[in-house]
Amino acid sequence: MNLGNMAIIGAVLLLMLRSLSYGQTLSSAVASISTYSPFLDQINELTAEYLKHEVQSGEEMPTSPVPVTLKDVSFSYSGRDSTLKDVSFQIEGTDLVGIIGPSGSGKSTIAQLVLGLREPTEGCIHVGGTPLPRVDRSWWCRNTAFVPQEPKLITGTIADNIRFFRDGIEDEDIERVANDVNLLDAINALPRGIDTHIGPKGTELSGGQRQRISIARALVTRPRLIVMDEPTSSLDAASEAVVIESLESLKGQTAILLIAHRMSTIAICDKIVVVEHGRVTAVGDHKSLVSTNPYYKNAVRGI
Ligand code: ADP
Repeated sequence: MNLGNMAIIGAVLLLMLRSLSYGQTLSSAVASISTYSPFLDQINELTAEYLKHEVQSGEEMPTSPVPVTLKDVSFSYSGRDSTLKDVSFQIEGTDLVGIIGPSGSGKSTIAQLVLGLREPTEGCIHVGGTPLPRVDRSWWCRNTAFVPQEPKLITGTIADNIRFFRDGIEDEDIERVANDVNLLDAINALPRGIDTHIGPKGTELSGGQRQRISIARALVTRPRLIVMDEPTSSLDAASEAVVIESLESLKGQTAILLIAHRMSTIAICDKIVVVEHGRVTAVGDHKSLVSTNPYYKNAVRGI
């Protein structure tokens, strides 16, 4: 996993922890979680890094986080040339929007901007008609979710992993969301159902099952917008197929921004944004891009 991916996972865990309602301070919450998983130790530093540049909260609460509208968005990491230049596209309603492009073209940076983890250097992002910087951060965190490239599970039960330290999530919610990601039958076949321990000393899950738990964790609070960063890239073909099936079954329920490099994953999107060298070079559906966009055409051929 590259540093960018680690950073975004750290930042999003931070956002999740911010929505904890049982009065724990951020640092004690991170410290207690660290005892569950060495992985979280690694991201402590990165979350601290994000805290230094934390985006200020506004006070507005739009009726919905969608549509998300990026208008002429440019972004530069400090001291570097533009990573993104004049990026414009929209995510509406319950669209499944894919982003595809070569490695280093700026896809993860777009995900971070859409999540409000970074601010555009130029241009603006509106969510539900409101400029993102004016939106209340806690509201935003409650209405959006992130699924990272590699599922990061904690040692505990399936329910612990889906609930992920947030209160107000009942067992019925966990079963509902497990069903939404086509995992309920497999969970019910385990001796202790959602109370089955997973992890080093518990039941071993397949890569596809682990990623579907990660998606269930994001979905359980019923976010209206989910950002997924290459959620199938670490999976073998069989696991990828079941995760794609789960993603397809989510269509029409919530807006999804899906960064993907595999054509099998991108092909299920309603709209695809092609990003090359920090610029959007095409927006369209699979059929139109195959005939009009050279990068996309080559990607389909596997060149
Ligand atoms: P992609 O997701 O398409 O692979 P990224 O958005 O991760 O692209 O990266 C786009 C460019 O920004 C790359 O050149 C990358 O090296 C650079 N970059 C990514 N994260 C950082 C960072 N935290 N600091 C400086 N440069 C970064």
